Amino acid sequence: MSKPVNPAPLIHEILPVGMLACNCSIVGDPVSGEAVVIDPGDEVERVQSLLAQHRLKVKYIVATHAHIDHVGGIERLQRATGAPVLMHEGDLFLYQHLAEQAAWLGVRPPETVSVEQFLTEGDKLRCGSLALEVLHTPGHSPGSVSLYLPGEHRRIFSGDTLFQGSIGRTDLWGGDYRQILHSIRTRLLVFPDDTPVFPGHGPPTTLGHEREFNPFLAGR
Ligand SMILES: [Zn+2]
Ligand SMILES: [Zn+2]
Repeated sequence: MSKPVNPAPLIHEILPVGMLACNCSIVGDPVSGEAVVIDPGDEVERVQSLLAQHRLKVKYIVATHAHIDHVGGIERLQRATGAPVLMHEGDLFLYQHLAEQAAWLGVRPPETVSVEQFLTEGDKLRCGSLALEVLHTPGHSPGSVSLYLPGEHRRIFSGDTLFQGSIGRTDLWGGDYRQILHSIRTRLLVFPDDTPVFPGHGPPTTLGHEREFNPFLAGR
């Protein structure tokens, strides 16, 4: 008799961090003990205590884009974990101008670190048995990416590209309204309707829900 096959478990913790409540996600494979931390914008102590609670070691620190609310905690987490920092090259200028972003928000500028590797469309970030695929979804910023986790735990991390009932603003540095709609249509809405979506702010949703109800996507 064959043993029942249990799906490989997944750890997914979502913490809204900082004054803009950026959703930081910890995605971990409990078997290998490896994790990817997406958008550690602030409150690094909370991120670290959850990592410790699950006995996870950070393999990659990933920024969906380089707005301060998503990257403000990167330096502290990098220093604490030694994990490489990854983002798209198109947003490097934003990361290099974090002080201006901080001034714009009226907060103290966070320290920065060097970016170890630039993400490009189609990259696969392996973490134990998981492999997150990089989708380049410019529009909110030139280097905005979304991450797609295929398989039984299928989900999209959409950064500030797609929200429940809305899309990312395009009036900031390098934003482009036509481009964000094109990104959503060609890179995100190509996946099945029941694909869960975890945005950079606010509650989770699904592609089908957004296809039907998101006022920015009517008829797409
Ligand atoms: Zn943003
Ligand atoms: Zn944001």
